[in-house]
Amino acid sequence: MRISDVLRVKGDQVVTVPPDTDVAGLLSVLSEHKIGAVVVSADGTEIAGIVSERDIVRALAARGAAVLSEPVTRIATAQVRTVSPEASLEEVERLMTDGRFRHVPVLVGGALGGVVSIGDVVKNRIDELEVERRELAGYITGVRP
Ligand code: AMP
Repeated sequence: MRISDVLRVKGDQVVTVPPDTDVAGLLSVLSEHKIGAVVVSADGTEIAGIVSERDIVRALAARGAAVLSEPVTRIATAQVRTVSPEASLEEVERLMTDGRFRHVPVLVGGALGGVVSIGDVVKNRIDELEVERRELAGYITGVRP
């Protein structure tokens, strides 16, 4: 399965915040949309960074409540790993595991065209592996699913 298949079902909506958003504003966005990370972008298409719950936790532990009035760019990751819609689910799974992150923006023709989370990857990988398992069982037993 390709990332484009995942986005076809999930949609290509990406929640972004402009770079001058403060951390308090970021908390509202994460809470409102019930998500764990947002892409930092001035125009909604070009990626300036990514910031997740983990960045907030780390910054709060290091600097306390003063973090809430800092711009998101102070705590965001600037070097964002992205994938193309042609990437396979398995490749993205490996990228997330090796990089220890749970969110990957998708670039379509150089512009932001979606985000996949570890939840999307796990759900679709399980579905994919289940189809494979049924096909193999059918092949071995001669009973078609
Ligand atoms: P997460 O597991 O997605 O909550 O993120 C863990 C850490 O990786 C945080 O510091 C994020 O800013 C960073 N991060 C999340 N997604 C990406 C990504 N696609 N590329 C690079 N860093 C990321």
